[in-house]
Amino acid sequence: MDKSILIVGGGTFGLSTAYHLAKAGYRSITVLEKGDTIPSPLSAGNDLNKIIRAEYESPDYAELALAAMEEWRSNPLFSPHFRQVGYLLGNSAAAPEKTRRTLAKSLASIETNPAFAGQITAINSRDDIGAVAPALDGPMEGWVGYFNRQAGYARASDALRAIHVAVKELGVHVILREAVVSLEYDKDRCTGAMTTSGSRYPADVVILTLGASVANVLPSIGRQITARSWVVAHVQLTPEEAAKLEGIPVTYSRDLGYFFEPDQKTGLLKVSPSGAGYINRGKDGISVPLEDNTRIPDEGQEAVRRILREHLPSLADRPLIKCKICWCADTADTDYVIDFVPGKQGLVVVTGDSGHAFKMLPVIGTWVKTLIESGQQTSARWKWKEGKENEEFGEVSWRVGKTKDLSDIHTVKLP
Ligand SMILES: Cc1cc2nc3c(=O)[nH]c(=O)nc-3n(C[C@H](O)[C@H](O)[C@H](O)COP(=O)(O)OP(=O)(O)OC[C@H]3O[C@@H](n4cnc5c(N)ncnc54)[C@H](O)[C@@H]3O)c2cc1C
Repeated sequence: MDKSILIVGGGTFGLSTAYHLAKAGYRSITVLEKGDTIPSPLSAGNDLNKIIRAEYESPDYAELALAAMEEWRSNPLFSPHFRQVGYLLGNSAAAPEKTRRTLAKSLASIETNPAFAGQITAINSRDDIGAVAPALDGPMEGWVGYFNRQAGYARASDALRAIHVAVKELGVHVILREAVVSLEYDKDRCTGAMTTSGSRYPADVVILTLGASVANVLPSIGRQITARSWVVAHVQLTPEEAAKLEGIPVTYSRDLGYFFEPDQKTGLLKVSPSGAGYINRGKDGISVPLEDNTRIPDEGQEAVRRILREHLPSLADRPLIKCKICWCADTADTDYVIDFVPGKQGLVVVTGDSGHAFKMLPVIGTWVKTLIESGQQTSARWKWKEGKENEEFGEVSWRVGKTKDLSDIHTVKLP
């Protein structure tokens, strides 16, 4: 409890870690964040909303997601930002075999779990869709899947703002506009970090929670982490249109992409296409995020419109606004990396979110606390993945298509 803790990166993993360590009684915790706000424009969690669901091929992650969901429902810090509107998951008629198999696996992962008893409805016809989501008026011909009531979404940016306030109240020092450039060492012991401003922050334990940017500060992790991004776009609705769609489930056509209930305050409806994502490979072959994330691939615009045509056609020709690409830290097996850095004492890395960790915001910090108190990672899946080359993805079952490098394709800046 007397150890000084330096958390580098005030995003989803970093703030959850600060929260749980501070709650447990750690008295000297500092968070360094490159952005000038929380959420930072660079954070993968800086988003209107994120899906909260417990469909996982791995029963371990399913149990963790259920524990997190319980916090989203019952913890007053998180519950104001959670909407249990359900999850309508399926495939359009044109879906490839791969996303059909993924859907079957998703269903299998929850249908035998007692937590979902009575919560799942099979969707085999257009009428079935109408029964659970009457406001979706797109053709959706031949769309099959299921509706899971035990899921929904979090208002992601709002939840990050709330946990930021909570950690400050618990005595954590959160320092914005401090970008770490390098780590400091005394022989093999990490003793702190230095920032672009030239300031030095000494600490007993340094925890890197840099998301997709982790290889910028810890290049040795670059072989196991690939920064990968997807398009996020929004459509502006009138208050009447937003009210008409209030309460719609998070709707995910595996082969096309997904969208959320419109935000009733702003009238924004968020849409994001699925796919294998975009990388930005630098000279050394390691993909790291771009500084400017406001240019999106041309094909991304078309993919967003295809989603709207299928589900909400009256919105399909609207201007797309607040468009960006959003980066996550991918591992080859999509397992997180939560471990001490081999050969470096006092240095912990918490990354590898692989695009599925926002839902864990309420609980991530408990895993980090266990790690630093036990001194070793006992979960094989979260260990430092030495030797696991993350060049190309083989069979990540929920992704279709081929990863593209942003430097090879045309991108455009939309309003
Ligand atoms: C398109 C997309 C959709 C997603 N949808 C979902 C979803 O529906 N449900 C779900 O559960 N998860 C989802 N995720 C995943 C989720 O957003 C991430 O798993 C989670 O936000 C990762 O948290 P993190 O703390 O590792 O990274 P981040 O939240 O990105 O935090 C990293 C922080 O480090 C800061 N930083 C960077 N460099 C420096 C530096 N040098 N010094 C100091 N600070 C620095 C950044 O500004 C940032 O605040 C999605 C991800 C993407 C990309």
